[in-house]
Amino acid sequence: MHGANTVLLEKMEKPARKVRITGKGRCNITNSKTLSEFEAETHNAEFVRPALSIFFNRHIAELLHGQGVDTVVERGGRVFPASGRAADVANALERWARQQGAHIITHSEVAHLRQLPNGHLALRDASDRSITAKAVVVATGGLSYPLTGSTGDGLRLAKQLGHSIVEPMPSLVGLTVGQPFHQAHGLTLKNVMASLWADRHPVAEQQGEVMLTDFGLEGAAILRLSRRAIQLHRQHQRVEVLLDLKPALSHEKLFNRLVRELEATPTLDMRGLLRKLMPAPMLPHVLTLCRLAGTTQANSLSDEALSGVVDTLKAISFGITGHRPWSEAIVTAGGVNTNEIDPYTMQSALHSGLYFAGEVIDVDANTGGYNLQAAFSTGWLAGLSAARYATGA
Ligand SMILES: Cc1cc2nc3c(=O)[nH]c(=O)nc-3n(C[C@H](O)[C@H](O)[C@H](O)COP(=O)(O)OP(=O)(O)OC[C@H]3O[C@@H](n4cnc5c(N)ncnc54)[C@H](O)[C@@H]3O)c2cc1C
Repeated sequence: MHGANTVLLEKMEKPARKVRITGKGRCNITNSKTLSEFEAETHNAEFVRPALSIFFNRHIAELLHGQGVDTVVERGGRVFPASGRAADVANALERWARQQGAHIITHSEVAHLRQLPNGHLALRDASDRSITAKAVVVATGGLSYPLTGSTGDGLRLAKQLGHSIVEPMPSLVGLTVGQPFHQAHGLTLKNVMASLWADRHPVAEQQGEVMLTDFGLEGAAILRLSRRAIQLHRQHQRVEVLLDLKPALSHEKLFNRLVRELEATPTLDMRGLLRKLMPAPMLPHVLTLCRLAGTTQANSLSDEALSGVVDTLKAISFGITGHRPWSEAIVTAGGVNTNEIDPYTMQSALHSGLYFAGEVIDVDANTGGYNLQAAFSTGWLAGLSAARYATGA
């Protein structure tokens, strides 16, 4: 590729297994937003800016279009293949790589990587196959969803070569709570506000979908808060997620709404009143939090007690005890330290001819197509730079 003989070593039976399951099988390829909007969604954005500038959303869309995969833009600028099939994207990428001259060897798990005295890099895979190359790109992914092949090998290889690793941490992952709402398992709350608190101070908030599960909390709003929540939890802070079930209504407006409901139907009990505001499986828990029986006549409550109910509806607290395992994390935060990689070439600052790309680097982003784009952009830049280095171009 770009004049260089290229060999791609893939340990699984085929490349891009993870791409095939992205976006719930639809692959959210990238996002149509601007570069500065991308940066706002990305951790270590400054590092990845040169890569995004050289190969951005329109470039990956053009590359895929050239392979017969058209794209569509959906809500929030999310870009998907028009076919709705992630496999089409994975196959197109593989086809394109082969057309560019890449020789793909599957079932080849790189186990060792070292630099020879002449500066070349020597690779050995688990079946003792050896390859020597002028340039090597390590693009082994992070630690999340290990069944797809990403088991942190690149982090070990980088460490062997003297690179420092920012401690990997799962991100975009469900959070576990002390007292899950078992009866509400699988219940999805739409358009709620989830706010993250640490040691009783607000840290961040996300509006959107929250799913209550047997272990705790999931859903888009939670995934987007998970990175910060896990970080704070690891710092031994007391981490809570508060759910506001009615974010569009101020305390006063929600109070007035309850009063109006009671004026319209004075015989309502608490169960009947709350049922007007939330799905039935939530009721037992919310009633417990309000310290009220479902059969309590709602209009027997004082204004103060009704105001307390409103407080509960706007701040249901969940104490965060941890996170779901790597096998469920969408992305890995942490990785090869970006201080040791040149952002203009992706070359290692410690070894000439060694390059890094994708999730193995300490770059991660929010949901919305930003992680794949970061992998495409850093991959493009690393590949181009490695080819130039190898050919002396
Ligand atoms: C369920 C799920 C859904 C996702 N959905 C989206 C989405 O819709 N949009 C989005 O932007 N991001 C999404 N992501 C994140 C995105 O898939 C990753 O950020 C991206 O795939 C990272 O690309 P990568 O090439 O760095 O690593 P990977 O895709 O993990 O690829 C690494 C490759 O290296 C191979 N490998 C590893 N070690 C070795 C070794 N020692 N020798 C040889 N080969 C090796 C692996 O087998 C694998 O094929 C999702 C992730 C998951 C888990």
